[in-house]
Amino acid sequence: MADHIWPSGLTETVDGGLALHGHALRDLAAAYGTPAYLVDVPDLIARARAFRDEFATAFEAIGTTCDVFYAGKAFLCTALARLLDAEGLSLDVCTSGELAVATRAGFPSERTGMHGNNKSVAEIEAAVEHGVGRIIVDSMVEIERVVATARRRGVRVGVMLRVKTGVEAHTHEFIATAHEDQKFGFSLAGGQVREAAAEVLRHPDELHLLGFHSHIGSQIFDSDGFRVAAERLIAMQLQIAQEHGVVLPELDLGGGFGIAYVPEDEPLTPREMATQLAAILRAACEEAGTPVPRVSIEPGRAIIGPAGITLYEVGTVKPVQVDEDLTRSYISVDGGMSDNPRPALYEADYVATLANRLGDDKTTQSRVVGKHCESGDIVVRDQQLPVDVRPGDLLAVAATGAYCRALSSQYNHVTRPPVLAITRDGVRTWLRRETIDDLLALEGE
Ligand SMILES: *Cc1c(COP(=O)(O)O)cnc(C)c1O
Repeated sequence: MADHIWPSGLTETVDGGLALHGHALRDLAAAYGTPAYLVDVPDLIARARAFRDEFATAFEAIGTTCDVFYAGKAFLCTALARLLDAEGLSLDVCTSGELAVATRAGFPSERTGMHGNNKSVAEIEAAVEHGVGRIIVDSMVEIERVVATARRRGVRVGVMLRVKTGVEAHTHEFIATAHEDQKFGFSLAGGQVREAAAEVLRHPDELHLLGFHSHIGSQIFDSDGFRVAAERLIAMQLQIAQEHGVVLPELDLGGGFGIAYVPEDEPLTPREMATQLAAILRAACEEAGTPVPRVSIEPGRAIIGPAGITLYEVGTVKPVQVDEDLTRSYISVDGGMSDNPRPALYEADYVATLANRLGDDKTTQSRVVGKHCESGDIVVRDQQLPVDVRPGDLLAVAATGAYCRALSSQYNHVTRPPVLAITRDGVRTWLRRETIDDLLALEGE
């Protein structure tokens, strides 16, 4: 499959079906059932390495380093955490649940960051006890809590301040003014960042202020939003240096690097993004006359998203007369909004393809829907699919590696699909399929 929305290990077989690293999807469905999330492991590793190496190279060229923190919220399990560790990436978690997976995986604590706008005291305790390399603090009350925990445990905790830069980026557009009305971070424009920095610096025995952190959005397709955010952050760093005589050593530019869900999406490559961000940072630091800080970025989707696909079985096919001119074929699959809520949540677009055989050349306007009790339970809103798609066929949906299993639910008491890691050598179960017994195990009397 040449198209850039599919993982690189996906190929067509001689009989017209699809295979991932030589494993026919038909055989995988027979062995593991459907729906199933499949991860192309070599594709995933190549993406992780591309971020690690391209950002290292680009930032080395401007005299600094860049650490890649994988954003665990996109998808996290023990095996993935271990794989990313082996590749030298760092890891962001934002709850004690995600931290528990990192701990179980033996992920190095100093390369782990703790996020969240409302970490509980217990979560802060767990993060400090685990010895995370940095806590990204999001409010004044949290600063107090981290100070109290650090004091109680007699340790000094590295912190970054989550900054609301007033930039919101989304795909092709970004807004550089007044995106103040959201929950994350200290406001730059409102002076909260200065206050928070002063507060952290008042507690040098408990806290080490590493620098500022900004995350401007998701599915970002160019670097303009990052430029505005970086310029504002560097200007703020300069102000802190002038007021407190402290040069903040680090800067985190967040994640949000876009991926292709549909063929029209053309994200920047990691190399293009790295080169542009390094140039932006160098220019901003030159302008401010400050040293270039050590940088970190936090891609989630761009590492795991394109490496994953979801395999479904078709259950029913029903023609629906939409209007005088249009009949749409409604193809129901055995999952839906429980394993991929993104279409229902954000009207996200996906592409499906017949996976067990070559379909008819003739196509018809189709909508792939799930099995849940909501008419918004859509997997693919609008796509031409072969006219002969029928019950028992398999459909594969592209780019489901990020924010599908992570956002999945047991809506209608469905059991969540397994996550199967595919290499040329074989299939490993990263997460098994849930069972009805798993669901019933939660029940009281
Ligand atoms: C969600 C998030 C990320 C990752 O976003 P992607 O779109 O998956 O790259 C990184 N950093 C923070 C703080 C986030 O909230």
